[in-house]
Amino acid sequence: MKKPLYAIDTSNRIPEQTSISLLGATGSIGEQTIDIVLENSELFSVDVISAYSKVSELSAIADKLSAAGKPISACHIYDADAHALAAKDPVLAGKLLPAGDEGLQIAASWESTDTVVNAVVGAAGLPPTITAAENGKRIALANKESLVIGGDLVMNAVNGSGAEIVPIDSEHSALAQCLYGRSMSEVDSLILTASGGPFLNHTAEDLQNVALKEVLNHPTWNMGQKITVDSATLMNKGLEVIEAHVLYGIGYDKIEVLVHPGSIVHSLVRFNDGSLLAQLGEPDMRVPILYAISGEIHHHGGSDRLDLVKLGQLNFEKPDEARFPCLRLAKEAGIAGGSATIVLNGANEIAVASLLAGSIEYKDIALIIEKALEQTEVVSVDSLEQAISIDRKSRILATEIVAGL
Ligand code: NDP
Ligand code: MG
Repeated sequence: MKKPLYAIDTSNRIPEQTSISLLGATGSIGEQTIDIVLENSELFSVDVISAYSKVSELSAIADKLSAAGKPISACHIYDADAHALAAKDPVLAGKLLPAGDEGLQIAASWESTDTVVNAVVGAAGLPPTITAAENGKRIALANKESLVIGGDLVMNAVNGSGAEIVPIDSEHSALAQCLYGRSMSEVDSLILTASGGPFLNHTAEDLQNVALKEVLNHPTWNMGQKITVDSATLMNKGLEVIEAHVLYGIGYDKIEVLVHPGSIVHSLVRFNDGSLLAQLGEPDMRVPILYAISGEIHHHGGSDRLDLVKLGQLNFEKPDEARFPCLRLAKEAGIAGGSATIVLNGANEIAVASLLAGSIEYKDIALIIEKALEQTEVVSVDSLEQAISIDRKSRILATEIVAGL
């Protein structure tokens, strides 16, 4: 007989200590992960910390952990020049892994690590997600791009090794919490909420002329620059639709997006009988990070308590794909499958970098991605090498499109 949900014994899910390898330690998710580790030092320790090039920030994190009695075992800097600097840093020097992919792979498969937190931004996050999956780790996954460009590759590696993915993305964490103990056969559809970003009430005409500082001014979340731009175009929600499709194995016709400007309801599951389950809370990434690194346990900590009376009401509206074409483009690429989502992501990363560099405008982002998708043929993707090669080609193409604007 099936046990009712409240009788599930989770005691075996709580190890005495979870050891973490933290990729993207110097970023927005990385820093919040460190704070959570330090606030719950009886639960977590950190084996490895990794960053792209921010040597002094990484050194400060190693110092902070050491001062709290939690010294790291190893550290990694991806960029070769920054790696040479790190080799002279007294805190990092003796613990430094090789630069580049080699060191990132070691970090993602560190033997004593239980949980790999992948908080790298962009396509660079895919190889370590696969390495962690192949090594049977629990992956607390913030790097949604891994699933967008290598969904099948990642899920095959997870299924083949007994690894586990617990999403950090707040919407997918909400879905995981609503789905906990359930079967997907009970599910009618998934509803992802979206804040709508800073331009929710801009007209199509207003959107032709927005300043970069307005793009970077997200109303509810404080995040790294790339995801902040993605949130302003709704590409972030598009990537999340693909992420939900990969994680929960559900068709695109069963994934709905609702704009919910307050970012209080983090997502919902609609079950076959019409029942809706939602996960609510203050918009605070510490909740999904804590939930993911502790292996789906609701520990003490997280965010401030939500005051529902003070909140008073919850508002929802339909997203406008005419004003925010990136959402449509992402769904179309998801449905096309194969290489299409790699091209979508690569072109988006080039467009976002170009916007941040001041060489294009907000309104050009969707145009660049659409052109890149139109100019490439969709093929099936069978290996990491092939995914990386398509990613590189799509970046070259998008760079040419940017230059031709
Ligand atoms: P940030 O830009 O703040 O941080 C990115 C981190 O990745 C930094 O530590 C950076 O190192 C490192 N990094 C960048 N490029 C590489 C590379 N090529 N190889 C290795 N490491 C690299 O990003 P966020 O923390 O905002 O986002 C991280 C991921 O989490 C993204 O995929 C994002 O979509 C997702 N996410 C983020 C949320 C948020 O609230 N921030 C919410 C939900 C999902 P360095 O500092 O040295 O450059
Ligand atoms: Mg999200």
